[in-house]
Amino acid sequence: MVVMPSDTRSAKPIDHYLCEPQDVTERIAQIDPVAYDKSRNYLAGSVTWLSPFITHGITNTQEVARGVLQQHSKGSAYRLLYELAWREYFHRTWQQLNNAIFHDIGNTQENVQSDQLPLAIAEAETQIIIIDQCLKDLMLHGTLHNHARMWIAAITCNLSGTHWQEPARWMHYHLLDGDLASNTLSWQWVAGTFSHKRYVANQDNINKYSNTSQANTWLDVGYEQLENFIAPAHLNKRTSPHYDLTLPGTPIHSLKGCVALRSIWQLNPYWQQNTPQQLVFIDTTLTQQWPLSPKRWQFIQHWAKLCNAPIVHGTVDDLKKASANAQIIHEEHPACNHWPGLPQPRPWLYPFPAKPFSSFSQYFKQVKKSLQL
Ligand SMILES: Cc1cc2nc3c(=O)[nH]c(=O)nc-3n(C[C@H](O)[C@H](O)[C@H](O)COP(=O)(O)OP(=O)(O)OC[C@H]3O[C@@H](n4cnc5c(N)ncnc54)[C@H](O)[C@@H]3O)c2cc1C
Repeated sequence: MVVMPSDTRSAKPIDHYLCEPQDVTERIAQIDPVAYDKSRNYLAGSVTWLSPFITHGITNTQEVARGVLQQHSKGSAYRLLYELAWREYFHRTWQQLNNAIFHDIGNTQENVQSDQLPLAIAEAETQIIIIDQCLKDLMLHGTLHNHARMWIAAITCNLSGTHWQEPARWMHYHLLDGDLASNTLSWQWVAGTFSHKRYVANQDNINKYSNTSQANTWLDVGYEQLENFIAPAHLNKRTSPHYDLTLPGTPIHSLKGCVALRSIWQLNPYWQQNTPQQLVFIDTTLTQQWPLSPKRWQFIQHWAKLCNAPIVHGTVDDLKKASANAQIIHEEHPACNHWPGLPQPRPWLYPFPAKPFSSFSQYFKQVKKSLQL
């Protein structure tokens, strides 16, 4: 028997994100870090659902941490700060390694049978009911709980032998919070190319954290059987997903004077608000490599409008030509390294790593020291 309570579904509709800046501030003030600590691994747990705002710079890790610490002790907020630090660690790794993060970083992925996405994932037909529900929610709403991301990546990479790159691109396309560092490096973490061990989950684990009780599935086996797993036939059918490449906005035109040039990762209406000329620039080379879904563009258009920033697009070379007579201000971001103009620093929870780090635990030691956790 399968028990599927209605709150098991782990998704927020897009309306939750087409809101005003003060709604984001209120949601930060409402975070209960103790409930978060106890329940974050459960699909119905008290997670913040803030990541689309953080990915797009509408808020940031520093502001979330500050908002929580205004009302709660560092001890109660420890787990949330720890997770925020993961996000920063992924971005620091991107800053350090540049485009190398888009290939196997450490180990080469083992047992790869295919580069193509399993059809069962693309069509939400894995036969694991809660996974299929989460996949449908991802494609419909663009949101997905962390544990569901881990399960989907584990099935894709480690049980059906798929190289992580294409599936990561596919998930990034659908996510409202798709972040090149967090997404790429999390897929690599699951696939064992950025960690010591591949991550796998069986039916018991999925049932426990999704509050379901599906049994007798192809995943209803012990962990030792997952070691040298032979995938069921339906996981071996492959597909090349279709990506809609339509972009909002108009081609970049010649710019003059001082322009606050936002990337899609800086859509905070209060950023550079004293600069009258505001634009959002879409780098078409990047979006061809990493396309975004129409829902994601809808979210970006909503926030660009709140910033009073029309959207323009082109290659970085087009931008350089168009801005030859302008003074460009943009915010530092690894995807904007080649943009012309003055990069402004962005807010961090832990502003600058004092020492080199080669793992999250080394990095987090520094964060703990600097935040006196
Ligand atoms: C395969 C895979 C792909 C992922 N892709 C993305 C992605 O494209 N964009 C993205 O923002 N996150 C990604 N994550 C990390 C994580 O799943 C999301 O940040 C989290 O689920 C967002 O939901 P939330 O805001 O409710 O998080 P909460 O649990 O409420 O956490 C608050 C914030 O802390 C940070 N955070 C929490 N958990 C993690 C984590 N495991 N890794 C990094 N940061 C974390 C996020 O900024 C998040 O918004 C991915 C994880 C996996 C396993």
